[in-house]
Amino acid sequence: MMLTDAYARRFSYLRLSVTESCNFRCSYCLPDGTDCTSRSGELSLTEIRRLVSAFAKLGTRKVRITGGEPSLRKDLTEIIATCKAVPGIEKVALTTNGYRLKRDALAWQAAGLDAVNVSVDSLDADTFHLVTGQDKLADILDGVAYAKAIGIKQVKINTVLLKQHNALALPDFLAFIQQQDIALRFIELMRTGDNAGFYQRQHLSGVSIQKQLLADGWQLNPKARTDGPALEYSHSDYQGKIGLIMPYSKDFCADCNRLRISSAGQLYLCLFTDTYQDLRSLLQTDDSAALMRFLQQAVQGKAFSHQLTQDYSGSTRHLAQIGG
Ligand code: SAM
Repeated sequence: MMLTDAYARRFSYLRLSVTESCNFRCSYCLPDGTDCTSRSGELSLTEIRRLVSAFAKLGTRKVRITGGEPSLRKDLTEIIATCKAVPGIEKVALTTNGYRLKRDALAWQAAGLDAVNVSVDSLDADTFHLVTGQDKLADILDGVAYAKAIGIKQVKINTVLLKQHNALALPDFLAFIQQQDIALRFIELMRTGDNAGFYQRQHLSGVSIQKQLLADGWQLNPKARTDGPALEYSHSDYQGKIGLIMPYSKDFCADCNRLRISSAGQLYLCLFTDTYQDLRSLLQTDDSAALMRFLQQAVQGKAFSHQLTQDYSGSTRHLAQIGG
């Protein structure tokens, strides 16, 4: 039994937000810091176990824990272990700003973490500080090196493309991955409810980077079933890889394999929708039959595509709200 929508898209990948709170102030996401005052509504470990179990019975094989900043949850290690212990879940991944990576990566790995994505928008310390509000580039890169050193299977870096801050930095990023097996993903800046002005000033298409990579001999890699939306390129002179996430490109949604759950247990069929369904009441018992029926019906309502190119981002004010 596999969650499948009206367009025959199959959902093997769940993105689970565990908190809306974040301790960074990224200019495109939460420039004024976290805007939620209460964290009391966050899903509990038991609710997470029930939720992931129902998804796994419906074909989910990969869970990405995200937020907000997931490492602000004191029970993050237990959340990782809980997801990993669910029968059917093959891969548990985490997206983090890296703030706790050096301190906690070993515990996360022991709990079953297979992959970690760390957000690094610039390799220049001052620019990093300017973009994130945190003067912590060196710490975060140490954490990335540590995650590699202890053998976390996949370590990736997420870099949001920003006209002013990293448009000319491709050579720096390429030098960074030349001698280390790290996959770096450039993500096109997405417009959300709160960042319209910033988006207008800073959005940069990934197409020019794609053209440059192809001209320099980079080759497109084939995709696995649970892979995310990145187009990933390799080159024999580089140990690392470069990925491009281009939500503004044509047909970006055609092979969407992801569903999202907010930290309060709401199902979002897309990052840019104005509707969600509250699953909380269905998470109060170990009997997953009702939740599974609900999910099977709900996915039928997934739209074929987001409407970002028409400047419509649904009710998403910033990505910390649903989990980027
Ligand atoms: N706090 C974690 C982190 O920093 O990675 C996880 C949550 S964050 C919302 C997830 C990813 O979304 C980060 O890589 C962040 O840079 C990216 N992101 C946030 N807002 C974005 C936007 N408007 N457009 C593109 N990427 C965005």
